[in-house]
Amino acid sequence: MSRAQRVTVLGATGSIGLSTLDVISRHPDRFEVFALSGFSRIDELLQLCRAHRPTLAVVPDEPSAARLRQGLAAAGLGTEVLLGERGLCEAASAPEVDAVMAAIVGAAGLAPTLAAVHAGKKVLLANKEALVMSGALFMAAVRASGAVLLPIDSEHNAIFQCLPSDYARGLAPIGVRRILLTASGGPFREWPAEQLAEASPEQACAHPNWSMGRKISIDSASMMNKGLELIEACWLFDARPEQVEVVVHPQSVIHSLVDYVDGSVLAQLGNPDMRTPIANALAWPQRIDSGVAALDLFSIARLDFQAPAPGRFPCLRLAVEAARAGGSAPTTLNAANEVAVAAFLERRIRFTEIPSIIEQVLAEEPANALDGLEAVFEADARARKRAKQWLTRQGR
Ligand code: NDP
Ligand code: MG
Repeated sequence: MSRAQRVTVLGATGSIGLSTLDVISRHPDRFEVFALSGFSRIDELLQLCRAHRPTLAVVPDEPSAARLRQGLAAAGLGTEVLLGERGLCEAASAPEVDAVMAAIVGAAGLAPTLAAVHAGKKVLLANKEALVMSGALFMAAVRASGAVLLPIDSEHNAIFQCLPSDYARGLAPIGVRRILLTASGGPFREWPAEQLAEASPEQACAHPNWSMGRKISIDSASMMNKGLELIEACWLFDARPEQVEVVVHPQSVIHSLVDYVDGSVLAQLGNPDMRTPIANALAWPQRIDSGVAALDLFSIARLDFQAPAPGRFPCLRLAVEAARAGGSAPTTLNAANEVAVAAFLERRIRFTEIPSIIEQVLAEEPANALDGLEAVFEADARARKRAKQWLTRQGR
């Protein structure tokens, strides 16, 4: 048997990072951890270093590095500690690395994920914001380097599993009519619309089916997550926005479907546990145990489907409009959303003001072509500045 794959886990202390390490530790013959990164949870990162003994660990700054180094020395570990974005890029692109789990949340993950792509690694993409903000450039880099891009987002991993292996030819040649992107509808699916303004961060984070980091939990509650996923699907599968239809499916058992021109519809089902898509991507094209229980259809008994209620979730509409506008519009949408979600989590704005900020920023920043990475970062910075100006104007 070939040697174990060496894996870098960016965002190891987060929800996806921990699920990844859970799957990895079930298969010590197949995988070994090369590098781990953390940001604020340095003590948790130290625990992970103790358990997985990585060659490298990456933290944001010198004080975090000093704390981690002290803990590593006390544990007798020789893990080298790197700093900041440069350290993340090095951990993602080092020659020893076979696969990179991109599980940092938000735009902060773009540079290291692209470093892994440019180095031609097997890239397991959870960090959807990176692809949304730089789609054309990101996919061009994948084609140029020959990196193997495997989707971790449960919907995209499901679609990937339902497509033939030559799907990169585009949807028409492989006979795909539509992609059906399922959405749980989040914790507010059945809330009266007039109560949404009073929703607290705790209520928004209480997702009915999935346990996730705080930012994606808010995105799920606002349905911006589905909007970002629609854009993600367009880039991953070379689809036009109108070829992707959002289907509300409250049980989160079907993780998405592909509708073919002959009338066949293929779906991927499973218990809502991210270890399934993670194991699928880590071992692809083989299958390994993920630790997820077998699906019990008798206890599920029924599966429901609904169209998303029009007007109820403006974030989804804004994302579809940004997808259609193209160019810098998704970058602007993503950056304004990150600022708005952070402000909501800090209780500076109401839940219903998240789309208000994004809509205003999109109106002030007309979509333009992005001719390189500099232009992506500039569009991102301009949108963040506009969103912060909105907060200041409103006295938040
Ligand atoms: P978490 O908030 O749980 O974890 C985020 C990770 O990123 C943590 O390791 C965190 O470090 C690190 N991090 C945060 N900010 C920075 C920064 N500025 N620079 C470097 N590292 C940083 O998020 P999730 O694991 O839930 O999500 C990660 C990504 O995966 C997101 O893009 C999300 O959309 C996507 N995803 C998640 C799913 C899920 O089920 N959780 C499902 C599908 C996609 P620390 O904790 O130490 O501060
Ligand atoms: Mg998803």
